Amino acid sequence: MIARSKKGVLLIVSGPSGAGKSTVISRLSQLRTDLRFSVSATTRAPRPGEIDGQDYYFKTQEEFWEMIKLDAFLEHAEYVGNSYGTPAAPVDRDVAEGYSVILDIEVQGAAQVMEKRPDAVSVFLCPPSMEELERRLRGRGTDSEEKIRDRLMAAHREYAQAHKYRYIIINDDADTAVRELDAILTAERCRSSYILEGENLL
Ligand code: ADP
Ligand code: 5GP
Repeated sequence: MIARSKKGVLLIVSGPSGAGKSTVISRLSQLRTDLRFSVSATTRAPRPGEIDGQDYYFKTQEEFWEMIKLDAFLEHAEYVGNSYGTPAAPVDRDVAEGYSVILDIEVQGAAQVMEKRPDAVSVFLCPPSMEELERRLRGRGTDSEEKIRDRLMAAHREYAQAHKYRYIIINDDADTAVRELDAILTAERCRSSYILEGENLL
């Protein structure tokens, strides 16, 4: 008999800040019950409405270094003057329990995860144009003019890494982007290599 894999899919989503990653991921989380979002640690200040433990674990630089020393991160990186990292333990626990886990992380961290976890599925989510990216960053109204400029500069470096990802989603229309990410997860859960591993072999 062939049984469904007991493991969840580890899904990396990267893309320029302002592309719509959080929007698409949070909508998908409402559609799928087999999904968990990996809550990152960051030294960035909370934005209005962000909740500690839900959007991020907000840390001081000292607390962040302590987590690095304890080897608590699956990956970590600097982005536009702040540190960001993925706590490893919840990711491993959730994947082992059969949940697909989404990491919303930038490109340097994504490269670390692709190296450490070759079975991770990677998606690059981008806006339809740089002009639209700028409009979205300004429209979000959460970043200073200087931070918006830094994030637009970072976007150019991020685009240069897009070819390293298995999938690319162009987030022109959010409903379509959610459907595409949903389809990727469903297809990945049905991959023969994913199902026919270990104890699931005939
Ligand atoms: P990211 O998580 O990639 O930094 P956000 O999800 O915060 O991006 O989205 C940035 C802004 O763009 C938000 O104001 C969001 O409402 C808006 N947005 C997201 N997707 C779309 C879309 N497809 N069309 C128009 N605006 C969008
Ligand atoms: P923001 O400050 O807009 O929430 O996030 C800025 C960037 O940091 C985004 O590209 C986001 O994907 C990335 N990011 C968020 N959490 C992590 C993390 O744990 N690790 C890494 N490497 N990047 C992260």
